[in-house]
Amino acid sequence: MPKDQQQWSWQQDTHPAVLYSSRPDGTVQCHLSPRNCVIRPGAVGFCRVRANRGGELVTLNYGKSVAMTEETIETEAVYHYAPGARILSMGNIGCMMNCDYCHNWQTSQARFVEDQSVHYYTPEQVVQSALERGIQVISWTYNDPVVWHEFVLDTARLAREHGLVNLFKSAFYISLEGAKELCEVIDIFSISLKSMDPTFYKRVTKGQLQPVLDATAYVFDRGKHVEVSSLLVTDANDTEGDARKLSRWVLDRLGPDVPVHFVRFHPDYKYTHVDRTPVERLERAREIALEEGVRYCYLGNVYDNEATNSYCPHCGLLVVERYGLIASPVGLTGEAHCQGCAKPLPFRLLAAPDNTALDILDVDAADLHHIEHEWRGDVKAVHVELSSEASAAHEVTVRVLGGASHGREVKRVPILPGSQYRFIACKSASDDRGVSVQLPPGVHANLYEVYDRAHFPISTVLEIQHSSDAVPEAAIRLQETRRA
Ligand code: SF4
Repeated sequence: MPKDQQQWSWQQDTHPAVLYSSRPDGTVQCHLSPRNCVIRPGAVGFCRVRANRGGELVTLNYGKSVAMTEETIETEAVYHYAPGARILSMGNIGCMMNCDYCHNWQTSQARFVEDQSVHYYTPEQVVQSALERGIQVISWTYNDPVVWHEFVLDTARLAREHGLVNLFKSAFYISLEGAKELCEVIDIFSISLKSMDPTFYKRVTKGQLQPVLDATAYVFDRGKHVEVSSLLVTDANDTEGDARKLSRWVLDRLGPDVPVHFVRFHPDYKYTHVDRTPVERLERAREIALEEGVRYCYLGNVYDNEATNSYCPHCGLLVVERYGLIASPVGLTGEAHCQGCAKPLPFRLLAAPDNTALDILDVDAADLHHIEHEWRGDVKAVHVELSSEASAAHEVTVRVLGGASHGREVKRVPILPGSQYRFIACKSASDDRGVSVQLPPGVHANLYEVYDRAHFPISTVLEIQHSSDAVPEAAIRLQETRRA
C-alpha cells in the first residue's frame, strides 16, 4: 500500500474535539481553521488529524508529538521576549495548510508520519519536564500547533498554573473562535506570514491571507506579545514590493515596535528547483522595512550579519547581541531600558529561573566519552537526542570544537536515569568548527542536523548521505520518488 494511504497505529485512538457543529446528515463541520471542512462519517479533514467518528468530531493527535526538544527562544523568531531563554519545544502532527516549500513537511503532512516517529505525552509530563529543568517557556511549534488545539489548551493552562509562559509559533490560519480560546492561555505569538498576496496564499500554501491577518490583529489587540516573520522564498515572494507591503501592514495594523523577521529559505519538499534565498535580497527587504518605519527588523537563518542584533533606536547602543540561535542581552537593564540612554525599549524580560532540584551525579572527566560533529555548509546546528541506561541522573556537556574558543563549555544538560531527552546545540562563533558532546557512562546520543531554525529533523547524521550542504536528504529522496 502506498505510504500516503497507510493507516498508522498512532491514528487509532481519539480524543473529543472542540469547535465544530454536527449536521443532520451525519457530517460534521470543523470550525478550528477557516477551511471549515465538512467531514463525512469515517473521514478526516484536510489536516488529516481531525475526523468524524459517529457524527462527532475527534482529534487523532491529542498528546502525540515529535520528541520534545530543548531549544532557545530565538529558534522561534522571538527576539523581544526573554532573549536567550531556554524553551521546551513541542511539535505535533498535521497542518491546516500545505505549503509547497514546507521545511517541516515530514511532520506537517500527516501521511508521512510513521509510528516510530511518534512520542506520547500527557499535559502533566510536558509541564513536569519544563519545571524539573528550570525551563520557563513552552513553545508550541514546528508543523503547526493550530491543529493540536485541544492538547495545547489543556497543557498551556496547566503550564500557566505553574508560572510558565506559552509561546505559539504558527502560520496562524485559524478561526477567530480558535484564536479567542488561545488568548486565554498563550502569552507570545510568533506569526509566520507567508506573503501579502492572496493569490500566493491560495496557490502555494493552500490557505488564505485575510484570516491570517485578522487573527494576528485579534491577538495583538488583546495585548499579546506578537512578532511577525516571513520566509522569503527564492523567486517566489522575495521582491521589494513584497517586503514593502508586509512592512506597511505591520506598521499600519500592529505599529512600529512589533519586530519583523525576514528569514532565509532552504530548498525543501516540493520546492527544490531554486537555491537558498540570496542574502542581498534579505538585506534589501530589511532596508525597505526600516525605510517604511519598522523599528526592529531582523534577518533569520543568516550568520555573521549585524542584522541579527538589536540596537537602541534612540542612541544606537547594541542592546542584544546574537549569533545564530544564541543571544546575550548586553545593553538592557533589568527593566528593559537601554543602558546607554535609559529610554524604555519594547522588550519583555523574565526573572532568572529557580535552580533545578535534580540530584546530579558527577563523573570523572576521564570516564566521559565524546561525540564530535563538524558544521558543514549552511548547516550550523544539531539536535542531540540522549538516552540513558544509567542508574543516576547525569549531565551531558557540550563544548566548542575548533577556533579561538576550542574547549569552551557552551551547554550542560541533565539526563535522568532511564529517560530520553533532546536538545539543540549550535554554532556559537564564526570560527567554531563544530561541537564535542561529552557523555557520561550509560548515556548514548544520536545527532540530527537542523536545516535552519524551527526545523525538526527526523534523519540522524548517520543516515544522511552528505550530498548537499543545504537540502535535507529526505527532500532529495522525495523528489527522486516522484520522478521514478
Ligand atoms: S483544522 Fe482546519 S483543516 Fe483540520 S479539519 Fe478543521 S477546518 Fe479542516
